[in-house]
Amino acid sequence: MPTYWKLLGARGKRVFLAASAGLLTIVSARIYGEDRPAVPPRVGVLVRNLSDVSEETLLKGEAGCGEVFRAAGIEIAWMNAAGNVNWNGPDVVIRAAIVPRAPKSRGSDVFGIAAPSKPDGIQLFIYYDKILALSWLTGLPVHVVVSVAFAHEIGHILLQSTEHSLAGVMRSEWGGRDLNEFEGGVLRFVPQESARMRSYVLSGR
Ligand SMILES: [Zn+2]
Repeated sequence: MPTYWKLLGARGKRVFLAASAGLLTIVSARIYGEDRPAVPPRVGVLVRNLSDVSEETLLKGEAGCGEVFRAAGIEIAWMNAAGNVNWNGPDVVIRAAIVPRAPKSRGSDVFGIAAPSKPDGIQLFIYYDKILALSWLTGLPVHVVVSVAFAHEIGHILLQSTEHSLAGVMRSEWGGRDLNEFEGGVLRFVPQESARMRSYVLSGR
């Protein structure tokens, strides 16, 4: 220990240590971004599975989707339930269903449909036949397509928009190369989308 440390005395050492701790707090706040809340924005997704997708595939798909949102600074909690559940914990709760087939009058999305401004009932549908078709076409596992489908449709709800972007999770057209971005861990929301979604979820807190 250097000589000046001995010279400081007990009180001086306490002041020095307290000042160092304060400085560390400021530095870490700078590194992690001061706008990030202590508890990350938390979204609950209630999933009603009305299709033949197995529980194992569904759980893997949900976990993969959760990773995409974690990278955007949002935590997703999942609840697979058959009926209506009152869920008060998360900042925002989204009700989703996986249905066996896409209706003939389906929307423009490949894997499902989301109704961002719908206040109650099911807000988001995933079409299992479309998931299977895309999995078959691209040779990617079904759970990967489930992850991307959920990320995209939940994205519509949290962005409060049916619009698409040219890159990332919110693009409108999907092929094998795009889905491979998920497998490579590089499929993400663009930073502006992440920020918009975080502030939307926090506004529900
Ligand atoms: Zn879409």
